[in-house]
Amino acid sequence: MKIGVLKGNGIGPEITEAALRVVDACGLPIEWVNIPIAEEAIEKYGHPVPPESIAMLKDVKIAIKGPITVEKGKGRVTCIHDDGSEHVYPSFNNAIRRELELFVCPRPSRGIPGISGTHEKMDLIIMRELTEDVYSAIEHRIGDVAAECVKLVTRTAAERVARYAFDYARKYGRKKVTCVHKANAISIADGFFLECFNRVAAEYPDIESNDLFVDATTFYLVKKPEMFDVIVTTNQYGDILSDLCAGLVGSLGLGPGANIGFKGAVFEACHGSAPDIAGMGIANPTSLILSAALMLRHVGEERAAEAIETSTRAVLSEGKCLTRDLGGTASTREFTDAVIERLRGTLAGV
Ligand code: ATP
Repeated sequence: MKIGVLKGNGIGPEITEAALRVVDACGLPIEWVNIPIAEEAIEKYGHPVPPESIAMLKDVKIAIKGPITVEKGKGRVTCIHDDGSEHVYPSFNNAIRRELELFVCPRPSRGIPGISGTHEKMDLIIMRELTEDVYSAIEHRIGDVAAECVKLVTRTAAERVARYAFDYARKYGRKKVTCVHKANAISIADGFFLECFNRVAAEYPDIESNDLFVDATTFYLVKKPEMFDVIVTTNQYGDILSDLCAGLVGSLGLGPGANIGFKGAVFEACHGSAPDIAGMGIANPTSLILSAALMLRHVGEERAAEAIETSTRAVLSEGKCLTRDLGGTASTREFTDAVIERLRGTLAGV
């Protein structure tokens, strides 16, 4: 089984190495294929997201990816296609997602006993639409007096993400799907997202469905997280809510995620490249280790995925070996070693 590896930058290479070590400890026949991106790709191919890397990604279909730094106000990335045409994207992540037609970003948030305090029992998954909304790069400056950004919602994308959420709920025994929007203030665009959601919800009478304003959602996520099961929402709200949920569980370093399409999937943490702690060996690799578990489940390696999740959560709950974001003193490597030791025991049935 070939799996692509995009190391990213900032803490990307450190946490990617940790996640790969954990997966390797499962003893699966995986061949890791390094796919250059950002600085590494500029060095090799003269472009941050070269057609060569996109072709490699399309070939392997499944990849694990570390975060990539996006400069504020300068994130735009141009991809050159085989026919010479160009497409501009607002960021690296957006470019990869759109070039591979990845349309949904499932981000699970599950409380961890001993770590998550009042959010120990939180167990939800956010299905973030990935292809449009205000992240479509349809924006421009009007001299130095104004700037304009289009919030795009199409029926195809809105129904596709809703259907994915309901199918997921059926497959994994989830009971309720909540559509999060702001259809009181953005009545046409968010109103249309909600309308598409309701149309799809009618096809799934066995799954409960409801909807909530995004501002109310943030309040209830803090106060009553148990009222959520599956959340389906637009690109920007999903981006913000999933960082909030990672924080409520205990740290941004705990939030796993995936980008899924019909032709491929890329698994990555929900946080950014954390330049403030890059290269120090102190990042919490849990987010990418748990993303790797999602990846293994996606390719049918359920037993390994389960073992990685159980072992990682056990090390965290025990509280003896925690990284600094969780109040401990362990390095990225020490924490990863503890997870691997536990994992070996779990896989051996100890
Ligand atoms: P982006 O916009 O790309 O999401 P950001 O600048 O909003 O990135 P992050 O890079 O996610 O933010 O970092 C926000 C804060 O969380 C930083 O202080 C960072 O050090 C911390 N952080 C993020 N990920 C981790 C991690 N895996 N381990 C420890 N701390 C982390």
